[in-house]
Amino acid sequence: MKVIKTIAEARALRRQLTGSLGFVPTMGYLHEGHLTLVRHSRAENRHTAVSIFVNPTQFSPKEDYQSYPRDEARDLAMLEAERTDFVFMPSEEEIYPRAFSTWVEVTRITDRLEGAVRPGHFRGVATVVNKLFNIIEPTRAYFGQKDAQQVTVIQRMAADLNMNLQVVVAPTVREPDGLAMSSRNVYLTPAGRKAAPVLFRSLQLAREMWAKGEKDAGRLRQAVTAHIEAEPLARLDYVSVADTETLEELSVIDRPALVSLAVKLGKPRLMDNILLG
Ligand code: AMP
Repeated sequence: MKVIKTIAEARALRRQLTGSLGFVPTMGYLHEGHLTLVRHSRAENRHTAVSIFVNPTQFSPKEDYQSYPRDEARDLAMLEAERTDFVFMPSEEEIYPRAFSTWVEVTRITDRLEGAVRPGHFRGVATVVNKLFNIIEPTRAYFGQKDAQQVTVIQRMAADLNMNLQVVVAPTVREPDGLAMSSRNVYLTPAGRKAAPVLFRSLQLAREMWAKGEKDAGRLRQAVTAHIEAEPLARLDYVSVADTETLEELSVIDRPALVSLAVKLGKPRLMDNILLG
């Protein structure tokens, strides 16, 4: 496994590769969710590259950029065990030199959900992913359904800007009790961790209602809200039943829908989602 820190090294290496290259962008502090993406990439490509970069531009000044969990040695050992070929771990200055002034902005779909709560977040995500694509030049890039809106934004960007790569989406990896794996789960207190499966249970409830024929999106939102509010530690940020492509809220579920929610459990804010149809 080669660990690369500079863009110049990454380009030199890329020039030597023949055959397909799969790419998994991450912010590190890896877990099974990330490793599953690596396994998908290894199964579908000749080479696999992973990036580890905690991207400052997708955090607002009030968010946890400084304290975001990091463990370089552990991450590298995990990637080595998965037989990753390349790890790109640039410094902040390497990605954002002082004169940096160009941004990639995906409009409309970024006004909703996470974008409404975290202004500027998706501008940071789209910009860094675009830069990483330009540096790594992957054949395929792998993203997790866990961050459903991020997937929609990256797919939109890749299509709108005619990027010469395939965006592949892998299902959310969960703990045995249903909690979606996330680097930020380490912030949960023991009581918060115990309460956390309430997110997925509320989504399963929505799925059951829908499978039994409920097509009224408002009733699904109400049921999820009531289920979350019954958990004393949880504070619901939003629950959404939206068109999977435009992310516009639905009143009737007459097409494929994304049910997503964000919930505060003490300090950490957790997200989860399921697809219907
Ligand atoms: P992050 O390091 O949080 O930026 O995540 C890097 C990639 O891993 C993103 O594409 C995430 O959607 C994906 N990912 C994070 N958690 C999970 C999970 N529990 N299941 C599947 N993919 C995940």
